[in-house]
Amino acid sequence: MESRLQALFNDGDLERTLQFGPLNLIACDLDDTIYDGHGDFVELKERVAELINDYLPDVDKSWLIQKYEETEALSMARYGSAYHRLFLNVADMYLQACEKVDGDPFVGRFGELFGIIREVFSEENYAKKGLMPGSLEVLRELKANQINNRPNLLLLFTQGGHMLQMPKIKGLGLNQFFDSAKIIPRKTLAEYIALSEEYDSNPIVMIGNSRYHDIKPAIEAGFNGAVYIANEPWAQDAKGKLPEADNILKYDSMKAVSEDLPNFFDFLEKVLHP
Ligand SMILES: [Mg+2]
Repeated sequence: MESRLQALFNDGDLERTLQFGPLNLIACDLDDTIYDGHGDFVELKERVAELINDYLPDVDKSWLIQKYEETEALSMARYGSAYHRLFLNVADMYLQACEKVDGDPFVGRFGELFGIIREVFSEENYAKKGLMPGSLEVLRELKANQINNRPNLLLLFTQGGHMLQMPKIKGLGLNQFFDSAKIIPRKTLAEYIALSEEYDSNPIVMIGNSRYHDIKPAIEAGFNGAVYIANEPWAQDAKGKLPEADNILKYDSMKAVSEDLPNFFDFLEKVLHP
């Protein structure tokens, strides 16, 4: 059965909302823009290394972390998506530990590894962590204010698997700010073009932390503007240069945006024209 949140986030509701247009569409990335997604992977890595080390004290924890990071770098290039990496990294760390001790003394505790994945990426853990500083204030302002006499429709535009992103959206209470959410496997140029076509004549901006996944494709797809939050903990986010365009505004963090709201809104007013 569809949950209340899923119902809220389905496209049918969005279409109904759009009938009231025109609106400003504000597409916002989730991980490492308003939420510290990278931090979850650091937590996972440390906790899995600790568990294996606890069971196999001869296998050094820093060696395990090094192996995990090697796998991470390889699988990042091959698969990109966090979902693929997550299971590969954990399985690889475990298998390498078994190889090092020449056996499988870990049998029977394999479920604990997956228990850690479940805990780290659980709704409860997200609720405990909350959004990155400044994000709440900025989202609140975007929701409460009009720009160029049009209300703002906030769209969460994120890549990843539903199983990873839905508990995050619930735990962080994002349904109170966002009118809709799109969770897609890869943020490609084609996805941005599809998004701007779907929203037709409504002006649209992108807010995101990745030059490669958020800013460059949004500008290339003809979005009216983009706000670049320069926080790129993953190498793949930082691929390529920021396009040279006067419809891109750059900040170091959402905290910096929250401390600069008048200029932020001036910029949005300037770019958000149908
Ligand atoms: Mg991101």
